[in-house]
Amino acid sequence: MNEFDLIQSYFNWQITDQAIDLGVGDDAALFNLEPGHQLVTSTDTLVEGVHFFKDSSPADIAYKALAVNLSDIAAMGAVAKCYTLSLTLPKINQNWLKEFSSSLKGSSRLFNVNLVGGDTTRGPLNITISMMGSIEIDSPILRSGARVEDDIYVTGDLGTAALCLKKIEEGVKPSQNELNKLNRPIPRLELGSALKKLANSCIDVSDGLEQDLSHILKSSDMGAVIEIQKLPIDDSVGKYINKTHDWSLPLSGGDDYELCFTADISSRDKIMKLSQELKIKVTKIGVINSSKKLVIDGYDGQTSSYQHF
Ligand SMILES: [Mg+2]
Repeated sequence: MNEFDLIQSYFNWQITDQAIDLGVGDDAALFNLEPGHQLVTSTDTLVEGVHFFKDSSPADIAYKALAVNLSDIAAMGAVAKCYTLSLTLPKINQNWLKEFSSSLKGSSRLFNVNLVGGDTTRGPLNITISMMGSIEIDSPILRSGARVEDDIYVTGDLGTAALCLKKIEEGVKPSQNELNKLNRPIPRLELGSALKKLANSCIDVSDGLEQDLSHILKSSDMGAVIEIQKLPIDDSVGKYINKTHDWSLPLSGGDDYELCFTADISSRDKIMKLSQELKIKVTKIGVINSSKKLVIDGYDGQTSSYQHF
């Protein structure tokens, strides 16, 4: 099977978005932006042994490669449209490709995005997706927009994916819920898009809350106080903390793919209403100030967010 057969067999699906004029099959793809909109684009790579285990299921890998990219688009408040896939494979394994391709196709339909091109090469297993989306000009939610006295919010629960990873590394069997949090994070696309009129700043929590919130603070030239007891955690993480008094999973565990955003106090009711409408838990965890420092109230332990190098 050569590269062209591989693409034809596994990565050439029917386009479901009329804005895409040209998908897989030419030198480049074409898609039309609506008038008054900007292109939003983001890239994320998953590497075997770094971002997933050697024996991870191809279906989970495909889903997560797409979801982590969608999470970045969600954090901008944009609508995801289409993506390219760069796939590096150690060898052509038809069973692996079948499962990967079927999951990627299903996940693409689920999130309403289309694969429009890419590249395949031989080498250590590595999946890079570049996601493209659109948003009305001047409306993206940037990291740099936080203001003094903004409320700080976070979606969902934090730390469950990190707990799952910890259990796997320690040879303990995680629960199905924990595995879902690690392997099947849900990108907060709908909420992100709705927040573009409400949030002053936003980031997706991929490397740990402490580090990702610090990116907002640095970009905005602000500081913050968050209250450790307010961090949203599920029962399994709660049990772990009760036993160990170690808050590092929700503070710096990473792989949560939740949104952390800041908004003016006047938006509080609207944000809570949105949370109810979309059935997404949104928790206020602290307040922005001008100190340029992040204070974690009620915690004096160590934290160590994920470092890429
Ligand atoms: Mg991000």
